[in-house]
Amino acid sequence: MIRFEGVGKRFGDHVVLRELDFTVAPGEFVTLIGPSGSGKTTILRLLMTLERVDEGRIYVGDECLTHVPKGERLVPAGEKHQRRMRKRIGMVFQQFNLFPNMTVLQNVTEAPLRALGLSKGEAEARGVDLLELVGLTDKTNARPSQLSGGQQQRVAIARALAMRPDVLLLDEVTSALDPELVAGVLKVLKQIASTTDITILCVTHEMQFARDVSDRVMMFDQGQVIEQAPPEKLFTDPDHERTREFLHAVL
Ligand code: ATP
Repeated sequence: MIRFEGVGKRFGDHVVLRELDFTVAPGEFVTLIGPSGSGKTTILRLLMTLERVDEGRIYVGDECLTHVPKGERLVPAGEKHQRRMRKRIGMVFQQFNLFPNMTVLQNVTEAPLRALGLSKGEAEARGVDLLELVGLTDKTNARPSQLSGGQQQRVAIARALAMRPDVLLLDEVTSALDPELVAGVLKVLKQIASTTDITILCVTHEMQFARDVSDRVMMFDQGQVIEQAPPEKLFTDPDHERTREFLHAVL
């Protein structure tokens, strides 16, 4: 579960998010769409604690990400709380950022070994299962440089899932890929969405993918959610003129 309550964020004088409220239910797949610069990536960066909120609170699972109780009051969370919470959040970016000097399996087992304290055997068993899930069993001992971009991105997805996060954040995960490699990555994500109960928040310009896989699509503009609906409604019969214009421009 993810919940934003009255979240505001600005960079200098530029207000990027304003009084933002939304919830992603446990196990739900929600896609954020909207024009460039509307604040979608900022939402994901706040969840990864790469940025701090100026106003409001963010909850992940049953816990507040941004604030901790101090006496009767809630105060901004410190680094230790945020580091603990970050383990519950997986993220896959446009750039895969794999460790080039490690094998595919080592890339997937590194964080569970280091951050969760799993034994080598446990981490490897988990890694082998995940590489099967993303269709890369035959690349277990390869180096990232021996893989295509699409295969590298599938390793990055397995690596994020290896931490068994409560929520998975996907930021334009196919936009650095050659067009013929996009389908394989989307297929893996679709399978993860349908076979696990992980909560997914996804930013994408792939409208067909958003349509195929999302439980709900949120149209975002100028720091606010202006419309949200199941994809079959939002893509065919949006209520808001701004959504119609945006879809007209991108479809
Ligand atoms: P895109 O679809 O192009 O990725 P977006 O909707 O994800 O765009 P954001 O990346 O969240 O948009 O950016 C929202 C606004 O905040 C933009 O105007 C951007 O220039 C600004 N912004 C983002 N990060 C910073 C920063 N660290 N400092 C100053 N301005 C920033």
